[in-house]
Amino acid sequence: NPIQKRIAAIPKAQYGGRHTVTMLPGGGIGLELSNYVREIFRYAGVPVDFEVIDIDPNSETNDDLDYAITSIKRNGVAIKGNIETKSEATGIISRNVALRNELDLFVNVLHCKSYPGVRSHHKDIDLIVVRQNTEGEYAMLEHESVRGVVESLKIITVEASERLSRFAFEYARKNGRKKVTTIHKANIMKLSDGCFLETSKRIAKEYPDIEHNNMIIDNTCMQLVAKPQQFDVLLTTNLYGSICTNVICGLVGGAGLYSGRNYGDHYAVFEPGTRNTGSSIAGKNICNPFAMLNASVDMLNHLGHTQHANAISTAIYETIVKDKIHTADLGGTASSTDCIQNVLKHLAAGQVSWKIA
Ligand code: ATP
Repeated sequence: NPIQKRIAAIPKAQYGGRHTVTMLPGGGIGLELSNYVREIFRYAGVPVDFEVIDIDPNSETNDDLDYAITSIKRNGVAIKGNIETKSEATGIISRNVALRNELDLFVNVLHCKSYPGVRSHHKDIDLIVVRQNTEGEYAMLEHESVRGVVESLKIITVEASERLSRFAFEYARKNGRKKVTTIHKANIMKLSDGCFLETSKRIAKEYPDIEHNNMIIDNTCMQLVAKPQQFDVLLTTNLYGSICTNVICGLVGGAGLYSGRNYGDHYAVFEPGTRNTGSSIAGKNICNPFAMLNASVDMLNHLGHTQHANAISTAIYETIVKDKIHTADLGGTASSTDCIQNVLKHLAAGQVSWKIA
């Protein structure tokens, strides 16, 4: 199984039974979200130490980012908020994109499953987006060829499309999923999206047990809003993936709930699913902490700390679904710290047997 091989190949820094994980808080609400993760891990006795690296958004150089990348290469695993880039003069475009490219994190996975009782436009959604994460419209190859004419290159390669498609079908098979839908715009971008679509069709033939169909991105947005339950696994390019994940998160509770996972052959990086900075709500104790906490649960599962992952995930579920402790983005009145206190309360109550003997 190529996925299992891939995950097994990821080196994980471990000293005396403890893992070391790179933490990049990023800008906006990133710092408070990261601190909540640290508080809960400390409380639950999670055997993970964080190497925290702050990246100065105003920096004129990429030294901070280089240091962060070296740290992730050493530790194998990272958790991050959204990194801001304010320095436009130096030609530094997006440090988030640069980080994904440098670590070859070719796939982004977002699993959106409705939380019962959360204010949402649709119920019973359970779908997965498998998004290309390193090329496509995010190639960052733009130039002004003559004054007033800008060209932007969208890169689609057979190699990356094949690797991503195989990941999607393997993921579907491993997780008991029945259908993969390739999302594209091959009717207009016949060569680039055509390549992506044709490659996914070719790989689909290797997985006769998984149904495969395809849909144009425009229609996908409409179908997601009208009848999202028809989807199972969405397989798509970089920008369409970003659009789909944001539409889906908007349908089931917004930016504050769901986590996203970035994988390559060697490294894994976990973060809130919609990658928002949330500058306007930073430092006010009102942001929803659960997308980042769910990212920390993903990270623990990846490292094999399943007991701690299950304990924290259960405490999150109880807080959202049973206790209905909701921040303003979900229509509630709770503060971020109310949510965290409630999670700690469930961990203390030991509702699941999570404590290591
Ligand atoms: P800014 O970073 O200045 O807020 P923005 O308006 O583009 O920029 P994003 O960071 O992209 O905002 O976030 C989109 C929306 O989602 C914003 O309204 C933001 O407040 C909200 N949002 C993002 N993350 C959370 C969160 N964890 N809890 C509550 N709301 C959130």
